Amino acid sequence: MLRSALLAASRSPQVRTMVEKFPPTHAIVERFVAGDRLDQGVSATETLVASGRKVTLDHLGEDTKDADQAAGTALAYEHLLTALKDTGLAADAEVSVKLSAVGQFLPVDGEKIALENARRICQAAADAGTTVTLDMEDHTTTDSTLAIARELRADFPWLGVVLQAYLRRTEADCRDLSGAGSRVRICKGAYKEPESVAFQGKRDVDLAYVRALKVLMAGEGYPMVASHDPNMIKIAGQLAEWNKRDTTSFEYQMLFGIRPEEQLRLAEAGNTMRVYLPYGQEWYGYFMRRLAERPANLTFFLRAMATRG
Ligand SMILES: Cc1cc2nc3c(=O)[nH]c(=O)nc-3n(C[C@H](O)[C@H](O)[C@H](O)COP(=O)(O)OP(=O)(O)OC[C@H]3O[C@@H](n4cnc5c(N)ncnc54)[C@H](O)[C@@H]3O)c2cc1C
Repeated sequence: MLRSALLAASRSPQVRTMVEKFPPTHAIVERFVAGDRLDQGVSATETLVASGRKVTLDHLGEDTKDADQAAGTALAYEHLLTALKDTGLAADAEVSVKLSAVGQFLPVDGEKIALENARRICQAAADAGTTVTLDMEDHTTTDSTLAIARELRADFPWLGVVLQAYLRRTEADCRDLSGAGSRVRICKGAYKEPESVAFQGKRDVDLAYVRALKVLMAGEGYPMVASHDPNMIKIAGQLAEWNKRDTTSFEYQMLFGIRPEEQLRLAEAGNTMRVYLPYGQEWYGYFMRRLAERPANLTFFLRAMATRG
Protein backbone atom coordinates (compact mmCIF):
# COMPACT_ATOMS: atom_id res chain seq x y z
CA MET A 1 0.00 0.00 0.00
CA LEU A 2 2.64 2.46 1.18
CA ARG A 3 4.97 1.54 -1.68
CA SER A 4 2.14 2.05 -4.19
CA ALA A 5 1.23 5.43 -2.68
CA LEU A 6 4.83 6.64 -2.82
CA LEU A 7 5.32 5.41 -6.37
CA ALA A 8 2.09 7.17 -7.41
CA ALA A 9 3.36 10.32 -5.62
CA SER A 10 6.62 10.06 -7.56
CA ARG A 11 4.60 11.04 -10.68
CA SER A 12 2.38 13.70 -9.05
CA PRO A 13 3.29 17.35 -9.79
CA GLN A 14 1.35 18.52 -6.68
CA VAL A 15 3.23 16.25 -4.27
CA ARG A 16 6.44 17.12 -6.07
CA THR A 17 6.02 20.84 -5.36
CA MET A 18 5.28 20.11 -1.69
CA VAL A 19 8.26 17.78 -1.21
CA GLU A 20 10.69 20.02 -3.10
CA LYS A 21 9.73 23.07 -1.04
CA PHE A 22 10.11 21.28 2.28
CA PRO A 23 13.50 22.42 3.67
CA PRO A 24 14.62 19.18 5.45
CA THR A 25 14.11 17.24 2.19
CA HIS A 26 17.39 18.58 0.88
CA ALA A 27 19.45 17.20 3.75
CA ILE A 28 17.89 13.77 3.19
CA VAL A 29 18.33 13.92 -0.59
CA GLU A 30 22.06 14.49 -0.05
CA ARG A 31 22.32 10.96 1.27
CA PHE A 32 21.30 9.57 -2.12
CA VAL A 33 22.46 12.24 -4.59
CA ALA A 34 26.00 13.62 -5.11
CA GLY A 35 24.79 17.20 -5.64
CA ASP A 36 23.17 19.49 -8.19
CA ARG A 37 26.23 20.13 -10.31
CA LEU A 38 28.59 18.21 -12.61
CA ASP A 39 31.67 19.06 -10.51
CA GLN A 40 29.95 17.54 -7.46
CA GLY A 41 29.26 14.36 -9.43
CA VAL A 42 32.90 14.22 -10.56
CA SER A 43 34.24 14.90 -7.09
CA ALA A 44 32.05 12.16 -5.52
CA THR A 45 33.28 9.82 -8.28
CA GLU A 46 36.88 10.62 -7.35
CA THR A 47 36.20 9.72 -3.71
CA LEU A 48 34.48 6.44 -4.61
CA VAL A 49 37.21 5.43 -7.07
CA ALA A 50 39.90 6.22 -4.49
CA SER A 51 38.19 3.72 -2.16
CA GLY A 52 38.42 0.92 -4.75
CA ARG A 53 34.88 1.19 -6.12
CA LYS A 54 33.79 1.82 -9.69
CA VAL A 55 31.00 4.20 -10.61
CA THR A 56 28.12 4.63 -13.03
CA LEU A 57 26.91 8.24 -13.11
CA ASP A 58 23.32 9.24 -13.73
CA HIS A 59 22.58 12.82 -14.80
CA LEU A 60 19.17 12.99 -13.12
CA GLY A 61 16.09 13.50 -15.26
CA GLU A 62 13.21 11.48 -16.69
CA ASP A 63 9.89 11.83 -18.52
CA THR A 64 11.16 14.72 -20.66
CA LYS A 65 8.31 16.29 -22.64
CA ASP A 66 10.35 18.79 -24.61
CA ALA A 67 12.82 18.12 -27.48
CA ASP A 68 15.19 20.94 -26.41
CA GLN A 69 15.34 19.56 -22.89
CA ALA A 70 16.07 16.08 -24.30
CA ALA A 71 18.93 17.49 -26.38
CA GLY A 72 20.13 19.43 -23.32
CA THR A 73 20.33 16.19 -21.35
CA ALA A 74 22.42 14.56 -24.09
CA LEU A 75 24.71 17.61 -24.02
CA ALA A 76 25.02 17.35 -20.23
CA TYR A 77 26.16 13.72 -20.65
CA GLU A 78 28.68 14.78 -23.30
CA HIS A 79 30.12 17.34 -20.86
CA LEU A 80 30.19 14.74 -18.12
CA LEU A 81 32.03 12.23 -20.31
CA THR A 82 34.58 14.87 -21.33
CA ALA A 83 35.11 15.67 -17.64
CA LEU A 84 35.60 11.96 -16.81
CA LYS A 85 38.17 11.72 -19.60
CA ASP A 86 40.00 14.92 -18.56
CA THR A 87 40.18 13.87 -14.90
CA GLY A 88 41.47 10.37 -15.74
CA LEU A 89 38.35 8.75 -14.24
CA ALA A 90 36.92 7.20 -17.40
CA ALA A 91 38.57 3.81 -16.80
CA ASP A 92 36.60 3.48 -13.56
CA ALA A 93 33.43 5.43 -14.28
CA GLU A 94 30.75 4.92 -16.92
CA VAL A 95 27.30 6.53 -17.31
CA SER A 96 23.71 5.32 -16.92
CA VAL A 97 21.04 6.88 -19.14
CA LYS A 98 17.24 6.91 -18.95
CA LEU A 99 15.85 7.03 -22.49
CA SER A 100 12.83 8.99 -21.23
CA ALA A 101 15.24 11.79 -20.30
CA VAL A 102 16.52 12.01 -23.88
CA GLY A 103 13.13 12.05 -25.60
CA GLN A 104 11.57 8.55 -25.64
CA PHE A 105 8.14 9.91 -24.56
CA LEU A 106 8.02 12.89 -26.92
CA PRO A 107 4.71 12.76 -28.81
CA VAL A 108 6.30 13.13 -32.26
CA ASP A 109 9.27 10.92 -33.22
CA GLY A 110 10.08 10.24 -29.54
CA GLU A 111 11.89 6.95 -30.11
CA LYS A 112 13.86 8.33 -33.05
CA ILE A 113 14.96 11.37 -31.03
CA ALA A 114 15.88 9.20 -28.03
CA LEU A 115 17.93 6.92 -30.30
CA GLU A 116 19.83 9.85 -31.81
CA ASN A 117 20.49 11.46 -28.41
CA ALA A 118 21.59 8.13 -26.94
CA ARG A 119 23.88 7.66 -29.95
CA ARG A 120 25.56 11.00 -29.19
CA ILE A 121 26.11 9.89 -25.60
CA CYS A 122 27.53 6.52 -26.71
CA GLN A 123 29.90 8.27 -29.12
CA ALA A 124 31.10 10.58 -26.32
CA ALA A 125 31.61 7.52 -24.09
CA ALA A 126 33.60 5.77 -26.83
CA ASP A 127 35.75 8.90 -27.25
CA ALA A 128 36.35 9.00 -23.49
CA GLY A 129 37.17 5.27 -23.34
CA THR A 130 34.23 4.20 -21.20
CA THR A 131 30.75 2.64 -21.53
CA VAL A 132 27.03 3.39 -21.20
CA THR A 133 24.22 1.41 -19.58
CA LEU A 134 20.58 2.13 -20.49
CA ASP A 135 18.42 2.19 -17.36
CA MET A 136 15.03 0.47 -17.56
CA GLU A 137 11.85 2.36 -16.67
CA ASP A 138 8.25 1.14 -16.42
CA HIS A 139 7.10 -1.89 -18.44
CA THR A 140 5.49 0.19 -21.18
CA THR A 141 9.02 1.17 -22.25
CA THR A 142 10.72 -2.25 -22.16
CA ASP A 143 10.23 -3.22 -25.82
CA SER A 144 11.18 0.23 -27.05
CA THR A 145 14.28 0.39 -24.81
CA LEU A 146 15.48 -3.07 -25.88
CA ALA A 147 14.88 -2.19 -29.56
CA ILE A 148 16.90 1.03 -29.22
CA ALA A 149 19.63 -0.90 -27.37
CA ARG A 150 19.78 -3.43 -30.23
CA GLU A 151 20.28 -0.64 -32.79
CA LEU A 152 22.97 1.04 -30.71
CA ARG A 153 24.79 -2.21 -30.02
CA ALA A 154 25.51 -2.54 -33.76
CA ASP A 155 27.90 0.41 -33.38
CA PHE A 156 28.64 0.24 -29.64
CA PRO A 157 28.72 -3.49 -28.75
CA TRP A 158 29.65 -2.73 -25.13
CA LEU A 159 26.33 -0.96 -24.44
CA GLY A 160 24.70 -2.35 -21.27
CA VAL A 161 20.97 -2.77 -20.60
CA VAL A 162 18.94 -3.28 -17.45
CA LEU A 163 16.42 -6.07 -16.91
CA GLN A 164 13.96 -6.06 -14.01
CA ALA A 165 13.40 -9.40 -12.30
CA TYR A 166 9.85 -8.49 -11.21
CA LEU A 167 8.64 -8.54 -14.84
CA ARG A 168 7.26 -11.93 -15.89
CA ARG A 169 9.02 -11.61 -19.28
CA THR A 170 12.50 -11.12 -17.82
CA GLU A 171 13.70 -14.73 -17.60
CA ALA A 172 13.16 -15.00 -21.38
CA ASP A 173 14.84 -11.61 -21.95
CA CYS A 174 17.83 -12.85 -19.92
CA ARG A 175 18.11 -15.85 -22.24
CA ASP A 176 18.02 -13.57 -25.30
CA LEU A 177 20.66 -11.30 -23.81
CA SER A 178 23.06 -13.78 -22.25
CA GLY A 179 25.29 -14.20 -25.31
CA ALA A 180 28.95 -13.28 -25.63
CA GLY A 181 29.71 -9.59 -25.22
CA SER A 182 26.39 -8.61 -23.68
CA ARG A 183 26.31 -6.56 -20.47
CA VAL A 184 23.12 -6.94 -18.46
CA ARG A 185 22.35 -5.24 -15.17
CA ILE A 186 19.80 -7.33 -13.33
CA CYS A 187 17.77 -5.49 -10.67
CA LYS A 188 14.48 -6.29 -8.92
CA GLY A 189 12.59 -3.32 -10.45
CA ALA A 190 11.52 -0.01 -8.92
CA TYR A 191 8.20 0.95 -10.55
CA LYS A 192 4.55 0.28 -9.75
CA GLU A 193 3.53 -2.46 -12.15
CA PRO A 194 0.25 -4.37 -12.61
CA GLU A 195 -0.01 -8.03 -11.66
CA SER A 196 -0.60 -8.95 -15.31
CA VAL A 197 3.03 -8.12 -16.13
CA ALA A 198 4.91 -8.29 -12.83
CA PHE A 199 5.29 -10.46 -9.75
CA GLN A 200 4.00 -8.53 -6.73
CA GLY A 201 5.23 -10.10 -3.47
CA LYS A 202 8.83 -9.98 -2.24
CA ARG A 203 9.17 -13.77 -2.22
CA ASP A 204 8.05 -14.11 -5.84
CA VAL A 205 10.30 -11.24 -6.93
CA ASP A 206 13.28 -12.75 -5.09
CA LEU A 207 12.68 -16.14 -6.72
CA ALA A 208 12.45 -14.46 -10.12
CA TYR A 209 15.70 -12.60 -9.40
CA VAL A 210 17.46 -15.89 -8.66
CA ARG A 211 16.11 -17.46 -11.88
CA ALA A 212 17.40 -14.47 -13.86
CA LEU A 213 20.78 -14.70 -12.13
CA LYS A 214 21.03 -18.40 -12.97
CA VAL A 215 20.51 -17.69 -16.68
CA LEU A 216 22.94 -14.76 -16.77
CA MET A 217 25.66 -16.46 -14.74
CA ALA A 218 25.44 -19.60 -16.93
CA GLY A 219 25.58 -17.46 -20.08
CA GLU A 220 28.51 -15.91 -21.89
CA GLY A 221 27.82 -12.25 -21.13
CA TYR A 222 28.83 -9.96 -18.29
CA PRO A 223 26.20 -9.93 -15.51
CA MET A 224 25.90 -6.81 -13.36
CA VAL A 225 24.26 -7.84 -10.09
CA ALA A 226 22.38 -4.75 -8.86
CA SER A 227 20.96 -5.42 -5.41
CA HIS A 228 21.47 -4.53 -1.76
CA ASP A 229 19.84 -7.77 -0.67
CA PRO A 230 22.30 -9.95 1.27
CA ASN A 231 20.60 -13.12 0.01
CA MET A 232 20.85 -12.10 -3.64
CA ILE A 233 24.50 -11.11 -3.20
CA LYS A 234 25.34 -14.44 -1.59
CA ILE A 235 23.51 -16.44 -4.26
CA ALA A 236 25.19 -14.42 -7.04
CA GLY A 237 28.61 -15.25 -5.57
CA GLN A 238 27.73 -18.97 -5.37
CA LEU A 239 26.39 -19.04 -8.92
CA ALA A 240 29.54 -17.33 -10.19
CA GLU A 241 31.61 -20.02 -8.48
CA TRP A 242 29.49 -22.89 -9.85
CA ASN A 243 29.80 -21.43 -13.33
CA LYS A 244 33.57 -21.09 -12.90
CA ARG A 245 33.46 -17.33 -13.37
CA ASP A 246 36.33 -15.33 -12.00
CA THR A 247 35.80 -11.91 -10.42
CA THR A 248 36.53 -10.08 -13.68
CA SER A 249 33.59 -11.71 -15.48
CA PHE A 250 30.74 -10.11 -13.49
CA GLU A 251 30.21 -7.24 -11.07
CA TYR A 252 28.10 -6.11 -8.14
CA GLN A 253 26.29 -2.77 -8.20
CA MET A 254 24.61 -0.74 -5.46
CA LEU A 255 23.10 2.72 -5.18
CA PHE A 256 25.07 5.64 -3.73
CA GLY A 257 24.37 6.00 -0.01
CA ILE A 258 22.97 2.50 0.46
CA ARG A 259 24.96 -0.12 2.38
CA PRO A 260 28.35 1.62 1.88
CA GLU A 261 30.13 -0.76 4.29
CA GLU A 262 28.93 -3.74 2.26
CA GLN A 263 30.10 -1.99 -0.91
CA LEU A 264 33.59 -1.67 0.59
CA ARG A 265 33.57 -5.24 1.88
CA LEU A 266 32.78 -6.60 -1.59
CA ALA A 267 35.43 -4.40 -3.22
CA GLU A 268 38.06 -5.34 -0.64
CA ALA A 269 37.29 -9.03 -1.24
CA GLY A 270 38.49 -8.54 -4.83
CA ASN A 271 35.13 -8.09 -6.56
CA THR A 272 34.22 -5.31 -8.96
CA MET A 273 31.78 -3.14 -7.02
CA ARG A 274 30.13 -0.32 -8.96
CA VAL A 275 28.16 2.47 -7.32
CA TYR A 276 25.23 4.09 -9.14
CA LEU A 277 25.82 7.78 -8.52
CA PRO A 278 23.10 10.30 -9.40
CA TYR A 279 23.68 14.05 -9.61
CA GLY A 280 21.64 16.97 -10.94
CA GLN A 281 18.60 19.01 -10.04
CA GLU A 282 15.89 16.57 -11.16
CA TRP A 283 16.13 14.35 -8.10
CA TYR A 284 12.43 14.08 -7.23
CA GLY A 285 11.41 10.83 -9.03
CA TYR A 286 14.64 9.08 -8.04
CA PHE A 287 14.28 10.15 -4.40
CA MET A 288 10.63 9.01 -4.14
CA ARG A 289 11.51 5.55 -5.53
CA ARG A 290 14.20 5.22 -2.84
CA LEU A 291 11.64 6.13 -0.14
CA ALA A 292 9.22 3.55 -1.58
CA GLU A 293 11.86 0.82 -1.38
CA ARG A 294 12.61 1.07 2.28
CA PRO A 295 10.27 2.05 5.11
CA ALA A 296 13.27 3.11 7.25
CA ASN A 297 14.09 5.82 4.70
CA LEU A 298 10.51 7.06 4.88
CA THR A 299 10.46 7.04 8.70
CA PHE A 300 13.57 9.19 8.67
CA PHE A 301 11.87 11.63 6.27
CA LEU A 302 8.59 11.76 8.22
CA ARG A 303 10.43 12.30 11.51
CA ALA A 304 12.20 15.28 9.96
CA MET A 305 8.82 16.60 8.77
CA ALA A 306 7.26 16.20 12.22
CA THR A 307 10.06 17.92 14.07
CA ARG A 308 10.78 20.72 11.62
CA GLY A 309 7.82 21.05 9.30
C1 LIG B 1 22.96 -0.09 -9.46
C2 LIG B 1 21.47 -0.13 -9.49
C3 LIG B 1 20.81 0.27 -10.64
C4 LIG B 1 19.43 0.20 -10.70
N1 LIG B 1 18.80 0.50 -11.88
C5 LIG B 1 17.47 0.32 -11.98
C6 LIG B 1 16.78 0.48 -13.22
O1 LIG B 1 17.38 0.80 -14.25
N2 LIG B 1 15.45 0.26 -13.24
C7 LIG B 1 14.75 -0.11 -12.12
O2 LIG B 1 13.52 -0.33 -12.21
N3 LIG B 1 15.37 -0.24 -10.94
C8 LIG B 1 16.70 -0.04 -10.84
N4 LIG B 1 17.31 -0.22 -9.63
C9 LIG B 1 16.50 -0.34 -8.39
C10 LIG B 1 16.11 -1.77 -8.13
O3 LIG B 1 15.20 -2.22 -9.08
C11 LIG B 1 15.48 -1.93 -6.72
O4 LIG B 1 14.34 -1.13 -6.65
C12 LIG B 1 16.40 -1.58 -5.59
O5 LIG B 1 17.72 -1.97 -5.84
C13 LIG B 1 15.94 -2.27 -4.31
O6 LIG B 1 16.00 -3.67 -4.46
P1 LIG B 1 17.08 -4.61 -3.72
O7 LIG B 1 17.52 -5.65 -4.69
O8 LIG B 1 18.16 -3.78 -3.17
O9 LIG B 1 16.28 -5.38 -2.62
P2 LIG B 1 15.12 -5.02 -1.59
O10 LIG B 1 14.14 -6.13 -1.73
O11 LIG B 1 14.66 -3.60 -1.70
O12 LIG B 1 15.89 -5.13 -0.23
C14 LIG B 1 16.24 -6.41 0.23
C15 LIG B 1 17.18 -6.30 1.42
O13 LIG B 1 18.34 -5.53 1.07
C16 LIG B 1 18.78 -4.83 2.22
N5 LIG B 1 18.65 -3.39 2.00
C17 LIG B 1 17.96 -2.78 1.03
N6 LIG B 1 18.05 -1.43 1.14
C18 LIG B 1 18.83 -1.20 2.22
C19 LIG B 1 19.29 -0.04 2.88
N7 LIG B 1 18.93 1.19 2.48
N8 LIG B 1 20.06 -0.18 3.97
C20 LIG B 1 20.39 -1.41 4.42
N9 LIG B 1 19.97 -2.55 3.86
C21 LIG B 1 19.21 -2.46 2.77
C22 LIG B 1 17.88 -5.25 3.35
O14 LIG B 1 18.43 -6.37 3.97
C23 LIG B 1 16.60 -5.62 2.61
O15 LIG B 1 15.77 -6.48 3.33
C24 LIG B 1 18.69 -0.21 -9.56
C25 LIG B 1 19.36 -0.62 -8.41
C26 LIG B 1 20.72 -0.60 -8.36
C27 LIG B 1 21.41 -1.08 -7.13
